[in-house]
Amino acid sequence: MNERRNQRPGRVPAPPSQSLPAISPAARASLRARKDEQGRLRWVLGIGGLAFALIAGKLTLIQLVQRDTYAGQSSVSRIRQINDVPRRGMIVDRNGRALVMNVPAATIVFDANLLVKQKGDPDKLLTATREGLMDALPGLDLAALLPPASEIELRRNNARDRFQPVELVRDLELSNIDLKSIKKLPGIGIVKSSKRALASGEIAASVVGMLGRDANPLAGMELSMNKELVGVPGRRYLAKDLDGIIPGTEEIVSRVKHGNDVVLTIDSVLQSEAETLIQGAVAKSNAQYGSVVVLDANSGDVLVMANATGSELLKSTPEGMRKLLLTKNWAVEGANEPGSTFKSFTIASALDAGVITTNSSFYCNGERKIGKRAVHCAPHGAFQNGHGSQAVSGVIKQSCNVATAEIASRLGWDRLTSTLQAVGCGQRLNIGLNGATRGVFPETESKIGLATLSFGQGPAISPLHLASAYGTFVDGTFRSPTLIHAVRNQASGNVKLTKRGDSVRVFSSDTATQMRELLRDVVETGTGTKAQLAFHDAGGKTGTAQMVENGRYSGKYMASFVGLAPIQAPKFIVAVTIAAPKGDHYGGSVAGPVFKDVMERAMVRYDIQPTRGKRPVTRQPDSASKGD
Ligand SMILES: [Zn+2]
Repeated sequence: MNERRNQRPGRVPAPPSQSLPAISPAARASLRARKDEQGRLRWVLGIGGLAFALIAGKLTLIQLVQRDTYAGQSSVSRIRQINDVPRRGMIVDRNGRALVMNVPAATIVFDANLLVKQKGDPDKLLTATREGLMDALPGLDLAALLPPASEIELRRNNARDRFQPVELVRDLELSNIDLKSIKKLPGIGIVKSSKRALASGEIAASVVGMLGRDANPLAGMELSMNKELVGVPGRRYLAKDLDGIIPGTEEIVSRVKHGNDVVLTIDSVLQSEAETLIQGAVAKSNAQYGSVVVLDANSGDVLVMANATGSELLKSTPEGMRKLLLTKNWAVEGANEPGSTFKSFTIASALDAGVITTNSSFYCNGERKIGKRAVHCAPHGAFQNGHGSQAVSGVIKQSCNVATAEIASRLGWDRLTSTLQAVGCGQRLNIGLNGATRGVFPETESKIGLATLSFGQGPAISPLHLASAYGTFVDGTFRSPTLIHAVRNQASGNVKLTKRGDSVRVFSSDTATQMRELLRDVVETGTGTKAQLAFHDAGGKTGTAQMVENGRYSGKYMASFVGLAPIQAPKFIVAVTIAAPKGDHYGGSVAGPVFKDVMERAMVRYDIQPTRGKRPVTRQPDSASKGD
């Protein structure tokens, strides 16, 4: 009864030509090895002990009861093992909108054994198949796949000698083929399957990630959440005869369990808008790459994680690597020096510790000596000899390195580093994605190290770190960001919410309020005027940091802007980073406008009450806007 016993190794097919979505010889071999468990080629038989006994019993019973129907057919009935392939779970956004889905596909198989059974001239049958396939699937090297007619003839005289079925095309999307006409061709079998496809617009491709051959997860959520998404195959046995399945013979060994859906916190509408904006900004400045992170200020939910890779970087990348690069999640995998965006934490920590007040005054002559070393403020605009005398507001507005280093020396190494660690720096943010970077955090205390750390030179953080850390200025509490909202059972609809990360109080709410006022000054009259919103008050900080390549400063810059709005009671945090822009490379002018555009879209989408009217720009951005 076991047909496998009768199988002999068939012809070894040559690979089809490369112009089709072809199957490599290695992949085809792997398919053969896996076909039992995959259940793609369901006519392949297998028999399991208990199930077999049960089903054989059922078959006998049926044949006794329905003697008329089944009389004389027992010799052609076969017990078949069916392996049910689980449906892979969907990845959906916070509103249930699909980001990736399963689309119907088909694997087309040629089984010469069917021609052996079929009546008619083998030569004519083969010609019909060949011509039909050439029409439907041009480019397939049929000579290597179809046997000569003489071999069909030979097998007709020796039924025990069987061909090995040959897979012609695998997982072809049904929309691309005329399945009906292919199905009619002699010797052709169709195995329905499904294929993974990103939803229209490829929204959030860098978060979703991708699958390789055999649904092998390669990146993103597809990889990190594979255990939930993949499901468990089922197995059952049933009896078949020439008329098809014999009713009542099915025996289920294990029921298929479809994969769970993963519900992300992403808002795909805002995500899509942010993707367009960051792609435009990266193209405009001919940058290497860029990203935008938008967080819900009150929950830490990641609403947007948008990434763009520049065309020059793509061109200089080997072709085989481009797809991975196109979907690279710079927002969580890329770590760079934060530069001046770090100054906010030095100042907040000092305010919170009481070593300065917002009325404290500082003097900058452009340089501060620290032992044999020195830190500087780059001369710019009206500040050729440093920033002069300034209050805390001036220090952050003009992004003064010298005064920030002075504040850090009053604060001390321990307090500054513990603040930075409390807002997530140097730690892997657990958002359920593999490859999230820890960044770089200094371990050795030194006076010069304290000074440079205070203005963001030395450490490295990801854009997600940056956005999450600024969330602390909402009310003084650091909230771990969340990207996976829940896991949902496909069949029952039951939802299991993801356990959220801890919220940790870092600053008093008074300090947070003072910081938001200082950050508003940056946008109103400091280096961040290009980030100003039309109808809402925003606060934020610019950053222009040299990128490190191979352990050295590269002369390329990371332009960034991070901020909150409405600043009185923030709803969103937006962090924009653009790597190695050509020409203008300042955070305020390169990343600031993207912040403004993304934040304004968020205000419209969530219908946030305006906090200011649109007013004419009375003050042209002066030289201060060029500071970092
Ligand atoms: Zn200065």
